[in-house]
Amino acid sequence: MKIFLRTYGCQMNEYDSELIESILLADGFSFVDSEEGADIILLNTCSVRDNAQRKIKGEIHEIRHRFKTTKQPIIGLLGCIASHEKEKLTQDKKFYADFFAGPDSYKKLPELLRQAIKHLHPADFALSDIETYDDIYPKRKPGVNAWVSIMRGCNNFCSFCVVPYTRGRERSRSPENIIEEVKRLVAEGYPQVTLLGQNVNSYNFEGVNFTQLLSQVSKVDGLRRIRFMSPHPKDFPPDLIELIASDPKICKHIHFPLQAGNDRILKMMNRHYTHKQFLDQVVKFRKKCPNLAITTDIIVGFPTETDEEFEDTVMVIKTVEFDAAFIFNYSVREGTLASKQYPDDVLEKEKTRRIVLLNAIQKEISLNKNQALIGTIQDVLVEQKGTSKSKEEWEARTDTNKLVILPNGKYNAGDFLQVRITDASSYILKAVPVTS
Ligand code: SF4
Repeated sequence: MKIFLRTYGCQMNEYDSELIESILLADGFSFVDSEEGADIILLNTCSVRDNAQRKIKGEIHEIRHRFKTTKQPIIGLLGCIASHEKEKLTQDKKFYADFFAGPDSYKKLPELLRQAIKHLHPADFALSDIETYDDIYPKRKPGVNAWVSIMRGCNNFCSFCVVPYTRGRERSRSPENIIEEVKRLVAEGYPQVTLLGQNVNSYNFEGVNFTQLLSQVSKVDGLRRIRFMSPHPKDFPPDLIELIASDPKICKHIHFPLQAGNDRILKMMNRHYTHKQFLDQVVKFRKKCPNLAITTDIIVGFPTETDEEFEDTVMVIKTVEFDAAFIFNYSVREGTLASKQYPDDVLEKEKTRRIVLLNAIQKEISLNKNQALIGTIQDVLVEQKGTSKSKEEWEARTDTNKLVILPNGKYNAGDFLQVRITDASSYILKAVPVTS
């Protein structure tokens, strides 16, 4: 039977979709690129934001509508929403999909699908303390980057976040298993890997920590670039930044989620650092690695956040001068500590005011930082032909993770080039190759 798989949300979900494809291909299923012609539609979902959850119900309704005059496909709801909504789903398995599987149940997908084909409405949400899928080699998409999950789950219980409930406790893959996968990826032609974990720097396998793993991955012959995401600010040891600074294969970019700049709010968020500790870390990063790009995530309008407390976040943004920031309104996630303990009492219009203000500040900071690069020579990895504006231009990326647009030319995806930056906006750089 033919399957169409759609992925929502983060890079970990992208990776999980590659695992899902591999598992089902091995069982004789095949995949198609669009809903048309699919017997089975799988939605690998994300529940980090509540609008994602609402959207998925609408999406399933629309699929049912689109297929109302033809044979209805079997719809499977996978991933975090399946896990997050498990109580509702167990009470009414018909709910809105034909079957359900949480993030630790993917090896059971062939069996779940066979039951779904018989209209048995199966559901498996069990979370595991040990499942890392280290025996599955994902079916990767062509490209220059390969995701490599090194650990799953999270023990941090940030009060706003559903991940510890939807993906369970932290567990790490063995370094040997990870290195084998990276060697295979290099042999297949991938110049770059991105090591993934919900809390990637909590990686720990029988005493091997994240810094040691990163160092081992870097020794793989032929590998050109290593990225990782996302680290937690509370777990960033000095030897990790030293390794990043000294190892040319490790990209000079850290995604460093601030979430809020006020200490009372950070405590309510259960983040285990103060704004000063965060700022001190940034100073250390820049001292060890002056060309490091730092990006962040911020939540505005956390319960009880006052205007003065929000101004603390503005202060941190202006002090750090992040290269980019992903800014979100707080939204209640059912089952989290914040949803149980705190009222969602910041008005939506006030949340919007704060997000608009922060985005405007960050846009200007990003523009200034990018414009400062005009005239400089940068090493870029060519990623693909075609941009959002032109089929002829090429996309490339600096090791600081900045998107660079190149004019049409004789490149190939995977080429490393030296380019001169000619123009900059808040979000992209333009460049031309340096000719020798
Ligand atoms: S570290 Fe916090 S925000 Fe990140 S996945 Fe864990 S609980 Fe969620």
